[in-house]
Amino acid sequence: MTSPTRVLVLNSGSSSLKYQLLDMRDGSRLAAGLVERIGEPGSRLVHTPLAGGGERRERTAPMADHTAALGAVAEELSADGLGLDSPDLAAVGHRVVHGGLRFSAPTVVTDEVLAEVERLVPVAPLHNPANITGIRTAMALRPDLPQVAVFDTAFHTTMPEHAARYAIDTETADAHRIRRYGFHGTSHAYVSRETARLLGKDPSEVNVIVLHLGNGASASAVAGGRCVDTSMGLTPLEGLVMGTRSGDVDPAVTFHLRRVAGMSVDEIDTLLNKKSGLVGLCGDNDMREIRRRIDEGDERAKLAFDIYVHRLKKYVGAYCAVLGRVDAVVFTAGVGENAAPVREAAMEGLEQLGLAVDPELNAVRSGEPRLISPQGARVAVAVVPTDEELEIARQTYSLVSN
Ligand code: ADP
Repeated sequence: MTSPTRVLVLNSGSSSLKYQLLDMRDGSRLAAGLVERIGEPGSRLVHTPLAGGGERRERTAPMADHTAALGAVAEELSADGLGLDSPDLAAVGHRVVHGGLRFSAPTVVTDEVLAEVERLVPVAPLHNPANITGIRTAMALRPDLPQVAVFDTAFHTTMPEHAARYAIDTETADAHRIRRYGFHGTSHAYVSRETARLLGKDPSEVNVIVLHLGNGASASAVAGGRCVDTSMGLTPLEGLVMGTRSGDVDPAVTFHLRRVAGMSVDEIDTLLNKKSGLVGLCGDNDMREIRRRIDEGDERAKLAFDIYVHRLKKYVGAYCAVLGRVDAVVFTAGVGENAAPVREAAMEGLEQLGLAVDPELNAVRSGEPRLISPQGARVAVAVVPTDEELEIARQTYSLVSN
């Protein structure tokens, strides 16, 4: 019998389930989809068959929990001849947001691993419970199949202590596991490796600054394939200005909001995570809409854009200093891949650091990795589309196929 080559990638949120089925012989996608509003009125599944040219299908039906959602996904896949009971399925790869310090590599899920992911819930209260639910659901459906956890934090576990520790009382920090963990690690790992490939080098030979600019956003400094610093911290709140998150603020802002504005801790949490960033500054978190408003002369949108870009520049400068020698700055994720004005503004005036953008190359729209720096530039500036699902599938498959 030939070995199974398919991997199902699951990304479980509290009320959502994203999935892709890949064939690891060539990394091609067989199907992809999303279930939204699980456990809420109006649950909806959108399924897209990607092999054999089937039509995109939608179903709206009550799905009370993740078990019901994955059951519906399994039915859709079966209808395409890709059922989860197939002997071709090698494993399920799960995105798990927080792996703490313990998980620096993809890990086959056992009861003990699940217990550790559960122990990390206090530092990832929104994400880890949903990820655990996804794993348990898939385990129940195919108990015989390896379930592999791929952690968002794993790539950042190589950060040296001087980058990972906050300058707060050591006993308190250790007692509560307070340190900088970083997130989006799967994307930073994939994109930094693909950037080395674009430069025709081995990842061990290049120093790269990765700017992952999606709705959530983070920067990382990667030296010779290893992360040495990243902008997100104990939680994904720290660092860059994001769609709805503030990124860096003086921690005393929270005391002030509590003591002077009388807000509860939960209200402050919601303010900084959901009502800040671009949406807090100008009411929109979609960069397309912000650019449209700027073109119409909207001052609030312009200021939001300028604050976003200013923060980005500060991190680029900081990571140039952290790395010493930089070979490439690379933009990725929704904003990084698509918003040429953000790339142009973020690199503007950084010629002293060897950084510049060629306007014509920057204006090219393409789904391919590409250079946007002028020919012969000392430091490459690149756009490299991220692919977290492919990276999760690759890591999962490499673990189970050996
Ligand atoms: P996430 O995975 O964090 O939800 P994405 O990486 O998909 O986010 O990025 C989503 C964001 O990308 C949107 O909020 C929007 O601001 C931005 N975006 C997507 N397409 C474009 C585009 N064509 N031009 C500018 N910004 C875009």
